[in-house]
Amino acid sequence: MNLFEKEALAAKKAEELENATPEAIIQYAIETFPNITFACSFGAEDVVLVDMIQKVNPNIDIFYLDTDFHFKETLETRDVLAARYPNIRYVQVKPAITPEEQAEQYGEELWKSDPNQCCNIRKVQPLTQILSKYECWITGIRRDQAPTRANSKKVEYDYKFGLMKFNPLASWTNEDVWNYIRENNVPYNPLHDNHYPSIGCEHCTRQVMPGEDPRAGRWSGNDKTECGLHK
Ligand code: SF4
Repeated sequence: MNLFEKEALAAKKAEELENATPEAIIQYAIETFPNITFACSFGAEDVVLVDMIQKVNPNIDIFYLDTDFHFKETLETRDVLAARYPNIRYVQVKPAITPEEQAEQYGEELWKSDPNQCCNIRKVQPLTQILSKYECWITGIRRDQAPTRANSKKVEYDYKFGLMKFNPLASWTNEDVWNYIRENNVPYNPLHDNHYPSIGCEHCTRQVMPGEDPRAGRWSGNDKTECGLHK
């Protein structure tokens, strides 16, 4: 399939699958693009998708970006999910340089002095490399998470990384996510119960108090709102 055919297919399927269930979208994605992967951050949306994927087809690759700066609770969530869903394989994707090498090359606490550069090294570059091996990826982004995600389609062509992209939960609300987690008894990051609605690296995530925007705890005090993984 060439680029024009992929663009046309994404537009057509985005319309056709807009009201489909996430499971049906995942099923279609896996059947149409067997060389598919899912990017898992172990956040609430992503544990929902892990549960759905293992029901639809547990054989697809699930990877996570290990920035070296995750909360210990995030890595514990990975282990709890692995025990709950033993058929699923989680692929660890690491940056090209260690935190120590980063400090030597770019200075201490790059996440403070230049968070875009830090995210580029520890998230965007590793993601670019891993996605180059696939023709399609699944993500947990939702439209109401942030204005930057408001126009996300269920099916898109991802120009940034050059592959098809499925966002099965795009139209879900936060309440939909938590209803699914409770109804299906899905393991989740315990930090969500301690005022962390959105969880990234420990250096760049703070607690969010009632009344604040759910993503206010990400890169707090900085204009930055996205890692650079989603446009
Ligand atoms: S979220 Fe913060 S610590 Fe993590 S890669 Fe981005 S800037 Fe660096």
